Amino acid sequence: MPRLLSPDDACIGVDVPTFGGKASYNGRTIDVSDPSHVKALRSVGYVPAAVAGAPIRSGGYSCTACGFSAFFKVCGRCGGSCVRPDLAA
Ligand SMILES: [Zn+2]
Repeated sequence: MPRLLSPDDACIGVDVPTFGGKASYNGRTIDVSDPSHVKALRSVGYVPAAVAGAPIRSGGYSCTACGFSAFFKVCGRCGGSCVRPDLAA
C-alpha cells in the first residue's frame, strides 16, 4: 500500500471524506490502502514516501523533502533532513 508523507510537520493527522463518512489517518507518515484516498491526499499536498516503488527499509530514515529512503538523518540524494517513519508519529 502507498505510504504518504504529510506536507507539513505540524500536520499529524488527516481525515478523508468517504461515501460512508470519513477515514482518519494519524501521523505524518501514513499508509493508505484506498487508491481514492491516495488521490485525495495527493491533491492536498501529501507526497509519496517511496518513489518508483522503492520500499521503505524498516529502521531507516525517510527524507522529508524528496521521499528518499536513507540510512542517515541527512538525505543522500538531496541533502534534506530525514525522519524515521516509525518515530514520526
Ligand atoms: Zn531527499
